[in-house]
Amino acid sequence: MRDERLFPLFQPLDALPGIGPKLKPVLEYLVGGETIWELLLHMPERWLDRRPVDSFENLEPGEVATVRGEVHAIKAPYNERAPTRIELFDGTGFLTITYFRADSRWLQGQFPVGKERIVSGRVDEYRGERQMSHPDFVMDPAKGEMPPPVEPIYALTAGLTNKRVHGSQQAALDLVPEGLPEWIDPALVAKRAWPGFREALIGVHAPTIYDEIALFKARERLAYDEALARELAFGRARALRAQEDAPSIPPSPDALNRLVKTLPFKPTGAQIRATKEIMADLAEPHPMRRMLQGDVGSGKTLVGAFAAIQAAAGGFQSAFMAPTEVLANQQFETLDRLLSPLGINVASITGRDKGSVRESKRMGLSDGSIQVAAGTHALFQEGVVFRNLGLVIVDEQHRFGVADRLKLVGKGKAPHTLVMSATPIPRTLAQSIHGDLDVSILDEKPVGRKPIETRAIPDTRIEDVIAATGRALARGERAFWVCPRVDADTEDGSSAVARAAMLEDALEVPVGLVHGRLKADEKDAALEDFRSGRTRLLVATTVIEVGVDVPEATIMVIERAEGFGLAQLHQLRGRVGRGDKDSFCLLLYRAPLNEIARQRLDTLRHTEDGFEIAEADFKLRGAGDLLGKRQSGMVAYRLIDPVQHAELIDIARQDARLATETADKISPARADGLALLSQLLSPDIRFSE
Ligand code: ADP
Ligand code: MG
Repeated sequence: MRDERLFPLFQPLDALPGIGPKLKPVLEYLVGGETIWELLLHMPERWLDRRPVDSFENLEPGEVATVRGEVHAIKAPYNERAPTRIELFDGTGFLTITYFRADSRWLQGQFPVGKERIVSGRVDEYRGERQMSHPDFVMDPAKGEMPPPVEPIYALTAGLTNKRVHGSQQAALDLVPEGLPEWIDPALVAKRAWPGFREALIGVHAPTIYDEIALFKARERLAYDEALARELAFGRARALRAQEDAPSIPPSPDALNRLVKTLPFKPTGAQIRATKEIMADLAEPHPMRRMLQGDVGSGKTLVGAFAAIQAAAGGFQSAFMAPTEVLANQQFETLDRLLSPLGINVASITGRDKGSVRESKRMGLSDGSIQVAAGTHALFQEGVVFRNLGLVIVDEQHRFGVADRLKLVGKGKAPHTLVMSATPIPRTLAQSIHGDLDVSILDEKPVGRKPIETRAIPDTRIEDVIAATGRALARGERAFWVCPRVDADTEDGSSAVARAAMLEDALEVPVGLVHGRLKADEKDAALEDFRSGRTRLLVATTVIEVGVDVPEATIMVIERAEGFGLAQLHQLRGRVGRGDKDSFCLLLYRAPLNEIARQRLDTLRHTEDGFEIAEADFKLRGAGDLLGKRQSGMVAYRLIDPVQHAELIDIARQDARLATETADKISPARADGLALLSQLLSPDIRFSE
């Protein structure tokens, strides 16, 4: 039940003055919500200093400025395309204000000759003269008018002006209740010199003086509110989970060691650490919810296999779910190779299974003779019954919808769940971003991996790249060629379809082609041909990004690489360098590169460490993008900027733990406050629902 004190904030947006049926949907779209509270959560991106400058002399072209002067003259446009020019005089010099296609009567009303005006807007330089075109504010000082001294600048959407959003925020602020109890530990508030909650909202949306420290503090306090609410919610989710039952599956070091002995390599330290964490989780009588995060090629599957062995030894079935048929098959082959020699029965369950094959597999699942099932969504279709499902492993979890995951988890009685992801997230943030999941990180590459040589090459040298690819194919190796688009493209031939045809011609080899427009089975067939070596050159769009393991591939060409994101390029590159031969990643780019693109390609050339790349990516494009709502499976931030506020998250975690552990010692006022905070900023924890 919502607390009454918060009712005003949870009203619809049209409860605000000036928001009618037309503006309401636009504003809802902008803030991604329907309530006044959601509007208030729409933070300014920055603040403009609108304090008037002393003299026109100090105006800097390119900057927003506020000036005061007397209207000296209005000059009509000398032709249709020229602006009306208004000359403003401040006692030392002139500033020209220009308006294109403006109504002259209206202008004369705005700028009566001989009267004083305050105008605020962007200063430009035109033919060596400073001028201001279409100012944001024109005000009459005689009436006591003044632009806001500080103007918050918001992200906008079509149909909204900044003034409008700012005005709505100001109206919304009137509804923020006064006298709410402080929910943050008072000592922390004092130490950080944070304003109270209401003051902080006013401080960001309607600051009255331009004070960078005050703006920063207000913004930081709100970010902390979110961090604290998240950690409290995660703590509650954990506590709830600790009350749920799951089978306690004891560790089986013998079975595990038998697998280790069959491996041609030694597990990495990180694989061992993660395995131990999982072993301990499985032994608990409560459901495991763990994320195994590791860069491409870090060996997540083996860790999953270790977990499956423990389950099998304890008499439980495991289900490995992959997002595509190809990946499911690949996983089946790997698991079968690893586990069958130990007497564990592994089967693949996909939508392809038909008739009696399907029936017998279903039988195997329901009578328990299949101990490990690798498959796609088909694993949890109607009619699939597990005898004793104890462990669910979801690979490449970000590719699944939340609903899929939940359905699978529902199959067993709250079985233990391990999700695996290669999405690189800076280590410091992993725990907070994955919400209430426990996180294990594979931060060590298997030894003996050869570095991938990465080169950035202008696309004018594409012939060299084609020749190099031809030489690799002649040596019996395989190559990927990634294109940014599917369609035939007359301009530069960089579409997958055109490029495949062109390469087939140039190299005189069969070329596989895979892109998102193909049907699932066509896609699978093309990938399968490449995996098995029937084709040795595969032209693709980014559908190959995730998970295909073809150790014979030594060359990854990426066309128009400047248009891809850093994380994506890194994932693509991870498709090669899996065998014992030297591998290359050739980034073809179209000159000239802009600064960000140049830095991306540079970062990639200099490191293969996914975590380092994630950090760089964060800095280059801002975290919002990476952690936006589009990233399913993660709990998106609203007020926290993970780059700026990372440190707050750790503090909040400790604070939340303390608040939970010492709940009986907390003052009633703070307890009241914490309950309010949870209603305001609880994250939407989808995984654990
Ligand atoms: P990912 O984490 O991307 O899913 P995989 O599990 O597909 O990685 O492993 C990539 C490759 O590395 C596989 O061929 C696997 O057999 C191999 N591998 C896994 N662990 C090790 C190890 N400790 N040493 C050497 N190779 C390993
Ligand atoms: Mg994998």
